[in-house]
Amino acid sequence: MGLTKQSTGSGVLAPDHFIERSHPGQKIIALAGNPNVGKSTVFNSLTGMRQHTGNWPGKTVSIARGNIVHRGTHFILVDIPGTYSLMANSVEEGVARDFICFGDPDAVIVVTDATCLERNLNLVLQTLEVTRNVVVCVNLMDEARRRKIRIDLEELSRRLGVPVAGTSARSGKGLGKLMDEVQAVTHGRSSLNPPKIGYHEAVESAVSLMEPALKAVLKNRLSARWVALRLLEGEGSILESIRNCLGYDPLSFETVNDSFQKAKEILRENSIGPDLFRDIIVSGIVRKAEEISREVVAVEDPGYNMRDRRIDRILTSRTFGIPIMIALLGVILWLTITGANYPSTLLANSLFWVEDQLTALFAAIGAPAWLHGLLVTGMYRTLSWVVSVMLPPMAIFFPLFTLLEDLGYLPRVAFNLDSFFKKACAHGKQALTMCMGFGCNAAGVVGCRIIDSPRERLIAIITNNFVPCNGRFPTLIAIITMFFAGMIDEPSRTVISALMLTGVILLAVVMTLLVSRILSKTILKGLPSSFALELPPYRKPQVGRILIRSLLDRTLFVLGRAIAVAAPAGLVIWGMANINIGELSLLSHCAGFLDPFARLIGMDGCIIMAFILGFPANEIVIPLVIMSYMATGSMMEFESLIQLRELLVTNGWTWLTAVCVMLFSLMHWPCSTTCLTIKKETQSWKWTIISILVPTAAGVAVCFIVASCARLLGLA
Ligand code: GDP
Repeated sequence: MGLTKQSTGSGVLAPDHFIERSHPGQKIIALAGNPNVGKSTVFNSLTGMRQHTGNWPGKTVSIARGNIVHRGTHFILVDIPGTYSLMANSVEEGVARDFICFGDPDAVIVVTDATCLERNLNLVLQTLEVTRNVVVCVNLMDEARRRKIRIDLEELSRRLGVPVAGTSARSGKGLGKLMDEVQAVTHGRSSLNPPKIGYHEAVESAVSLMEPALKAVLKNRLSARWVALRLLEGEGSILESIRNCLGYDPLSFETVNDSFQKAKEILRENSIGPDLFRDIIVSGIVRKAEEISREVVAVEDPGYNMRDRRIDRILTSRTFGIPIMIALLGVILWLTITGANYPSTLLANSLFWVEDQLTALFAAIGAPAWLHGLLVTGMYRTLSWVVSVMLPPMAIFFPLFTLLEDLGYLPRVAFNLDSFFKKACAHGKQALTMCMGFGCNAAGVVGCRIIDSPRERLIAIITNNFVPCNGRFPTLIAIITMFFAGMIDEPSRTVISALMLTGVILLAVVMTLLVSRILSKTILKGLPSSFALELPPYRKPQVGRILIRSLLDRTLFVLGRAIAVAAPAGLVIWGMANINIGELSLLSHCAGFLDPFARLIGMDGCIIMAFILGFPANEIVIPLVIMSYMATGSMMEFESLIQLRELLVTNGWTWLTAVCVMLFSLMHWPCSTTCLTIKKETQSWKWTIISILVPTAAGVAVCFIVASCARLLGLA
């Protein structure tokens, strides 16, 4: 996943902010659902707002909102995080739960997946315990039809006691009826009669003992039965949310407390401790979901789902799972490198042609040389470099990556890597956040919210920077092409480049695992938590939407950011290279100062300086290196990578320098956007600094070892 508007949080409400109506009569609708049921698709279709829709659990990380007018009624639709249950403890699921329970929505739409309705009914039933203003949206009806799964929507509605609408959100079918039902519910026109889930006898007696006292205290603000169940369950975070919502502790009332003590006594007499209590609640809901599902779902061709299972047996098998994954990665990188070559040259030529015209224009109007230097050779040339080097690989890599995501392949990646992450004492879902990091580390860090345990989330955040983001791919590709694959003729050249890049990425994954393990044995000690990874059904991707989404949401957004950073960086660099102190420019002074240390780790001062100045955006590191080598003090215009290689070799580069630059590019401080995101996500300077120090220390150590070994062995 790349950096998107959603992942950076614009247009998103803080979870504890409840929504204020802009005018009376406006209705607030919460959109809930298990992850991956098409909730974002429903939200986008209804509100017309563009929002990224991904394919792995827990993707919608913040509360987003959109406005709709349906038959004259104004609605605010609030897209809350995907969640399997309202009992969950993760940050994500806590947000969802709090909004449903305490956000005071006028109605809740629970989106469910028609192809696995039974499991989805758990959330529906839990929601019905909190509020009766629910409309159930059975989405993916087209997919269910294809799989010969028949759902009796009328019977479902009768059994749930709330309206049900069948939809195929992708094509927009059924959404009008859904909103009709929502309108009816919010205007009190639906007869709502949700079923009561009956629990164990002792639990029921305990609850009914508490209900009257609670009813008097709660004054219809929350369901007394639901609060009684939560108090008896005794789960800390929900009790705190209940207290926050009410503004008081219901147990502080003597009547409630008395009945609570008596209710607990009943449970004790029946030997129902906290674990058994939770078990009773969960199995009561699961049983009810099974019962309803048996009545309303008919599978005409049970063999159909077997196809997915057969594919999974290969893609997630012990023998083939990982080799297939590496091969797919290799193919994607090969397509990216091969495909990017031609448009890159074309773009560079056109942009540099424009530069010539600009130069001519500056000369014609008699602009001073410094102004031309500043704007054209400083700023414009940096921009051209960034655009021509970055745009083509991104425009190819992102759609391919999104294609795999849409097909449903990424959860299989997580499945394959699960045991490795477990061995590293980290969370299996870290494989997913790591994959997000390939697009953009800042997005990967935000994605870490899908990991429930704070310890494992921190490990995932600190190590996310070990996978190269889109900004670092061009650097790696350029160096591989120049120093290692450059001597080989096509067509093997791109194959060798892709193989080497695959190797670099595998190294990144190995380092992620290694550092995760070191962290979990030192500053973040603990055992890995278990989790149930869902393997969602494979879905036919929509190629057109993938192209638009990955181009607009990812490519242009990331490129826009790069340009916004590269332009001022171009100015600073031009300034540093042109302001002289004594004989030498400011840039040379700084590089000279860093040189002795840089030599130790196989590089030189100019390179380290470029990495430092590249803090705002990694993609400008190589242009900066070139600039520092150029006596003219502006970025060179180069015709081919071979020419560039000559410049580097003249400045003392060997294969060892190339290797160390690649390693350091893989392992150094995160870019400024990622650092800010880490600070925002961890709310701590300490962890932000650790996230900067860990990859940097790893990079320095690895480069030092490689450089020293090569020198000792006389290889360089
Ligand atoms: P979320 O995780 O619940 O927000 O799910 P998304 O909206 O990201 O959807 C997951 C996948 O299901 C995407 O590939 C959607 O294109 C696809 N999808 C959503 N609704 C439908 C539908 O009604 N029919 C089909 N066939 N696919 C759908």
